[in-house]
Amino acid sequence: MMKWEENVRKVVPYVPGEQPKDKNVIKLNTNENPYPPAPGVEELMNTMTYQDFRLYPDTDATELTKSLAKFYGVRESQIFVGVGSDDVLGMAFMTFFNNTEKPVLFPDITYSFYDVWADLYRIPYKQIPLDEDFHIRKEDYLIENGGIIFPNPNAPTGVLESVNDIEDIVKANPESVVIIDEAYIDFGGQSCLPLVEKYENLMVVQTFSKSRSMAGMRIGFAIANEKMIDYLKAAKFSYNSYTMNMPSLIMGVASVEDKAYFEQTCEKIITTREWFKKEMKALGFVFTDSYSNFLFAEHKSVPAKEIFDKLKEKKIYVRYWNKARINNRLRITIGTDEQMQQLIEALKEIV
Ligand code: PMP
Repeated sequence: MMKWEENVRKVVPYVPGEQPKDKNVIKLNTNENPYPPAPGVEELMNTMTYQDFRLYPDTDATELTKSLAKFYGVRESQIFVGVGSDDVLGMAFMTFFNNTEKPVLFPDITYSFYDVWADLYRIPYKQIPLDEDFHIRKEDYLIENGGIIFPNPNAPTGVLESVNDIEDIVKANPESVVIIDEAYIDFGGQSCLPLVEKYENLMVVQTFSKSRSMAGMRIGFAIANEKMIDYLKAAKFSYNSYTMNMPSLIMGVASVEDKAYFEQTCEKIITTREWFKKEMKALGFVFTDSYSNFLFAEHKSVPAKEIFDKLKEKKIYVRYWNKARINNRLRITIGTDEQMQQLIEALKEIV
């Protein structure tokens, strides 16, 4: 090791799902939406010219914040937007989880970026085992902590917790910030957003990457009370003021304004998911009752890794983790009916 390497902040980075170079695959591995963004997004895109890129973007994301405030019925001052929810969550770890002694709590099976951010910012953390059915036991979150975070529905399990149970956790932890990562909430879950008015230690984070089909645009946002949002903004403006690029700021608005399209798209995914559950059950798969745009499934006899490899040979990409408790499961994104039908045909051959 070189002498200078002693001063390096060493991290083991998060590994995102594969983005295959071959576009001719059925891609069900990173929970993207198979449908295009709202039509207004394309219309706006066609009105932009390269001249629009000459100036810096609006650091306050004024228009996008306005449209989100209107959509969710909150004040503009309660919203923080960032480059995907990863940016918002990473910023929130840095801002709110700043206790060097008490651990931040999150489930043992969850979004695998949480422990990476904790390590990056040198935050102590404790991973709390989910129960046998992959549910959170709320009593486990009544211990001393430096913050709490989990997704609802959880990833990669798709399991939804009730707003009541989450409220109990938030209420029991007035000295900590509780972050609910609602990346997948629009696929049938009930959001904790109404609790934000009631509890000043709660922050809800959502994204345009799944339900709004804009993963490539990188837009995420947090909703909380003004004080929390101000702390988050102060951290962001101490780090990089121009995070959001101009096209996302502009086109994000077009997405939010088309509520009907958003609802239709989510409904289509939900319908496909429920049909897919029946087909998978008939093939001998068992799975959690997913409320997200993916299914977390295990076959009764064929190992997940074997199915994963064989699907890949057939150019169908799903997600597999060789991790304790979940190494016999596949996380399968819900695509179009046609894609899922092709997957079912492939699975019939494999299992
Ligand atoms: N939270 C969860 C639970 C996720 O699965 C993801 C997607 N990888 C994200 C946050 C981040 O999504 P994005 O940065 O695209 O908003």
